[in-house]
Amino acid sequence: MDLGIKGRKAIVCAASKGLGRGCAMALAKEGVDLVINARTADVLEKTADEIRKATGVKVTAVACDVTRPEGREAVLKACPEPDIVINNAGGPPPGDFRDWTRDHWIAAVDANMLTPIELIKATVDGMMARGFGRIVNITSSSVKAPIDILGLSNGARSGLTGFVAGVARKTVKKGVTINGLLPGPFDTDRLRGTFVARAKSASRSVEEEMRIGAAANPAGRFGTPEEFGAMCAFLCSVHAGYITGQNILMDGGQYPGTY
Ligand code: NAD
Repeated sequence: MDLGIKGRKAIVCAASKGLGRGCAMALAKEGVDLVINARTADVLEKTADEIRKATGVKVTAVACDVTRPEGREAVLKACPEPDIVINNAGGPPPGDFRDWTRDHWIAAVDANMLTPIELIKATVDGMMARGFGRIVNITSSSVKAPIDILGLSNGARSGLTGFVAGVARKTVKKGVTINGLLPGPFDTDRLRGTFVARAKSASRSVEEEMRIGAAANPAGRFGTPEEFGAMCAFLCSVHAGYITGQNILMDGGQYPGTY
């Protein structure tokens, strides 16, 4: 299927690895020129190079922390009029809410709620004026079913989801959709990190713990960044103009609800 977005311009945040990289690669395969961002310049440059070589699109790498105002400024300077914005950043750390101070909460809300809201604010009016725009926020399955040790994520991402539910109905008439893409367990560095901690407390190897985790999913495995990217690219396509304010869960069927 031709997604109809060849020649469009996208900002993909936190895209040197994992799900962000999967989204960047999938958009590039559709002929979308990219500005990709992550904090570590050499890892980001390597990813940019791999995407260029695989697809031939223009890829600009902007090494910065997207959760900082100066980081967002640098990204927007490199792509002032994006057609597509993929909001993403590292997730908050796990823990017990009794240990979290106001500073922990502010950091989580800053990174996983206010950063995407700032990027929506900076780009959505231009998209509406031009008559086309796609914004996808990478959140988490924790928005639908909370994960006990990830209270900071449950809270901050739910705030973003509530905000987007309202604004996404105000933009669609002008051709701009805003949706959440909710990953369950995907095979990335971040997921491996959570299994390192679990393996330690269960006195098992990381590989064994990951095998148990994968087997517990109805699909019997973790998702891949390529599968995640493919859904992201579809949500950014011309065919998805009637989908807005939705939260698309990708978790291999792990969420046990009927709806
Ligand atoms: P990952 O660790 O594989 O990759 C994270 C990417 O984000 C890297 O490129 C890193 O450099 C970049 N990054 C992190 N913080 C940044 C910042 N402040 N500014 C710019 N770049 C930054 O992680 P992932 O698995 O791809 O996760 C992406 C998001 O999805 C995270 O918020 C994570 O919590 C969430 N998530 C992931 C899973 C999963 O199973 N992988 C499940 C639920 C939610």
